Amino acid sequence: MSVTDGLTGVYNHRYFQNQIELELSRAQRYDLNFSIILIDLDKFKKINDTYGHISGDRILKRISKQISNTLRKTDTVARYGGDEFVVLLPETGKENAVSVANRIRGNIDKANEREEIKINVSIGMASYPDNGVYSKDLVQKADSALYKAKEESRNRTCAA
Ligand code: GH3
Ligand code: MG
Repeated sequence: MSVTDGLTGVYNHRYFQNQIELELSRAQRYDLNFSIILIDLDKFKKINDTYGHISGDRILKRISKQISNTLRKTDTVARYGGDEFVVLLPETGKENAVSVANRIRGNIDKANEREEIKINVSIGMASYPDNGVYSKDLVQKADSALYKAKEESRNRTCAA
């Protein structure tokens, strides 16, 4: 079975699901922390409506590359679905995860200077074990934080 997303080439949702379970076992066993960050494109529907679906696809590819380029080899980036990406940061606590998230957001923002189509992202993040000890709870906490980032004006990072 495929582990990558057909459009962007990053890992797919199922692969992420496996990885977070593995990371959970490892963290429990060795008493480690880790964080996840959820990244959602801001007002992406409008971009599709304005420039067309093919341009939208190009943006998804661009964003996935920009995310990957910001990360370490040991981090996992996956397309969570639609215009949403998820990153798994092993052995990373809240403070460092927020700075990674802001680096991703900053790089995407900076790239807009040379891109015709401007796009920003909102980010929600959650950490094990502070925000939950089950993958489902961690994803849900990150998702609530993302929702807050969207509500608070977008193009920002919120931590659980
Ligand atoms: P928000 O800032 O609240 O996230 O607004 P939004 O417009 O990004 O949110 P919404 O969920 O309404 O829209 C997501 C859009 O992503 C809708 C859908 O058409 C688009 N989308 C999802 N998957 C793909 C894809 O594979 N290619 C393209 N081009 N668009 C996609
Ligand atoms: Mg969106």
